[in-house]
Amino acid sequence: MAKMLAARLHALGEPMSVDTIDVPTPRPTDVLVRVKACGIVPNMANVINNWPTWFPHQPLPKFPAIFGLDASGVVEQVGEAVLNTKPGDRVYVNPLRSCGSCQVCRGGELSRCRYFTLNGYFSTSRDGQRIFDLYPYGGFAEYMTAPQYSIVNIPDNMTFEQAGKLGYIGTSYGALKNATAGPGQVALIDGITGTLGVAST
Ligand SMILES: [Zn+2]
Repeated sequence: MAKMLAARLHALGEPMSVDTIDVPTPRPTDVLVRVKACGIVPNMANVINNWPTWFPHQPLPKFPAIFGLDASGVVEQVGEAVLNTKPGDRVYVNPLRSCGSCQVCRGGELSRCRYFTLNGYFSTSRDGQRIFDLYPYGGFAEYMTAPQYSIVNIPDNMTFEQAGKLGYIGTSYGALKNATAGPGQVALIDGITGTLGVAST
């Protein structure tokens, strides 16, 4: 079994440790990505350490946990039922996970799914642990598995570091779109110095 390095959190309040673990094998509808870059959320330690207190009914991944939101890299291997992704593709891994089959998922409202989870971070859903069990690999590892629906091909002129920002840029874009902001309109952006605020300008 091939091995890889992964930064894992063994307990709240402790530093992550770099451990040697098995490289995962992708299931039929999953993709194995060799991680080249991953976003680091400045507030991640604060959120993780306080999450069980702030949101005791919503799960963090089980420890030892591999965090890491907004990874990018190169596809290493694909499952037999993966249709639109092939080894060698340069990709961004969208961290949004949901069941994909319930009524709200089919309606495009993933965040209302009972399983909605931010892979490599936390879940905002009571049943999100099921997603963490299926996808325990965040971006702070040399390899991670991800469902084929989360894979976004990136152009050759986009760096992996730039791709690691797509999650925040996309969130800002989505907010402006939902607010129907556009030419000739004035928008008040709260928290302008943060990643979301900067991305929305
Ligand atoms: Zn769903």
